[in-house]
Amino acid sequence: MLAEGAYGLRLLTAAGIYALLAIGYQAVFGAAGALSLAQGAFFGFGAYVTGILGARHGVDGAITLVLSALGPMALAAIVAAPVLRLESHYFALATLGIAQLALLAGVNAESLTGGANGLSGVPGLTLFGVDVSRGWPLLAAVWGFAAVAGFLSWSWSKGARGRALALLREDPLAASALGIDTGALRLAAFLFAAGAGGLAGALHAHLLGVVSPEVLEFPVMIACLSMVVIGGRGNPIGAVLGALLLVQLPEFLRGIGPWYMVAYGAALLGVILFAPDGIAGAIARRLPKPMPVLPKPASPPAPRRAGASLSLRGVTKRFGGVIALNDLSLEIAPGALVGVIGPNGSGKTTLINAICGLYRPETGDVHLDGKSTQTRMPHDIALLGVARCFQAPRLLDQATALDNVALAARGSGRAEGLALHVLDRMGASEFALRPCAGLPGGVRRRVEIARALAMSPSLLLLDEPAAGLAPEEQADLAARLGALNAEGLTIVVVEHSVPFLKSLARRLVCLVEGRAVADGPPDEVTRNPLVVDAYLGRNWKRT
Ligand code: ADP
Ligand code: MG
Repeated sequence: MLAEGAYGLRLLTAAGIYALLAIGYQAVFGAAGALSLAQGAFFGFGAYVTGILGARHGVDGAITLVLSALGPMALAAIVAAPVLRLESHYFALATLGIAQLALLAGVNAESLTGGANGLSGVPGLTLFGVDVSRGWPLLAAVWGFAAVAGFLSWSWSKGARGRALALLREDPLAASALGIDTGALRLAAFLFAAGAGGLAGALHAHLLGVVSPEVLEFPVMIACLSMVVIGGRGNPIGAVLGALLLVQLPEFLRGIGPWYMVAYGAALLGVILFAPDGIAGAIARRLPKPMPVLPKPASPPAPRRAGASLSLRGVTKRFGGVIALNDLSLEIAPGALVGVIGPNGSGKTTLINAICGLYRPETGDVHLDGKSTQTRMPHDIALLGVARCFQAPRLLDQATALDNVALAARGSGRAEGLALHVLDRMGASEFALRPCAGLPGGVRRRVEIARALAMSPSLLLLDEPAAGLAPEEQADLAARLGALNAEGLTIVVVEHSVPFLKSLARRLVCLVEGRAVADGPPDEVTRNPLVVDAYLGRNWKRT
């Protein structure tokens, strides 16, 4: 089956090197969900560091290995700041640019890299004086590195962080609203990918004894991407399967000569079509899964956070020619429950986004408990105690309600117990083990509110939570929100349903074109001629 003898050993060693490269790539492409096209460049960079220091300066293998990992990591760190914030397709293009620059540098910096000829005479690998330059010892060393990298990546991306990563992939915006530092997660994944890629490149240089610009060319990146797609991007086993398969495949298919590329392309397409999470994913799906069990409910840790005060002063937010918030000022006392009404497009959702830090107002300032939140990132504001729900619930559809809520209770040792407790408070605990995809709209809203509560917030922002609910469901929701407010939680509810708000809030604010045209007790506000004119006149019957 496998090729035999010294040649077979060499192939297996090469497979281990590619497995290491692919394990690194899984962190950024699989776990963080970002299509990086720089992984081949990190591989080539690591190979050249070892080539230059080893062949030209006779530096010991143990040192060049470390430097071959650190070099690409330093490059990744430098380019990360501008590149990691980019939308996914721009991120792909930017990393492709990095790869092109690396290739240009490799070919043109002749005095350093040997130009198109590359470098020869790279010494075999020695580790702390022990010769592991070829055969079984090198094979063992290579697979040892792959195993360590695989373990690190597996333990980094399981449990609570695994769920955070899943949300980062699906919905980075919802992730930051839950206090997940999406930038830090992406950076960690990108650095790990660079380090593992560089190390793989260094081992490759030792295996071949030469370094040529080929290691920086795009086929390395394509091979790495193919391995992860075919093997599976979700866990290190997938990287190992993909690497073994892609290194052995040419041997299996040697007989068919030039048809090899056709067979290869067909195999790749087949996997993408029939096993979208790769071979490892397809196997994992067939394994019996343990029956999910309900955890013991756990109450939030005492003492709870007290309700926060919120203050907006002169906040203006424009979108091109549209003024969504127009010099808006609003003072909300700790423990208050304030309803916000207003016609569509009057800036209600923008108000919530401005408080959460998702939008930066052009002028004005938002203070939470007297502290300005202007310079804080959205995840940072969430950690201060601001929890929000979205106009359309943003849940991880393939995960259970319990997992979705537990995601927000990160850090506490009993995340699942706390999740069940808040689901119960929202009257949704019977759906805890159901995947969110199949849940009715009203339940999805409750799950999303429970997720917000799992953050132990001091301020809860709701965007049309009663939309689409039957009157008795609205009454139930109002009672539950009222109980939370009675415990001191500050709540701001954007809603169209005036009866719902009247049963709940003692203060209403009406926005029209980004300004608060009325602010006071519900009965006063709904009689205010400005409100009747701009809003209720048109919507009164609907609510
Ligand atoms: P509401 O929630 O009250 O219906 P929004 O706050 O969503 O209103 O929108 C207020 C105004 O700002 C609308 O005119 C809307 O088109 C505009 N707007 C909101 N968000 C954006 C955005 N991300 N880009 C461009 N325009 C936006
Ligand atoms: Mg809205």
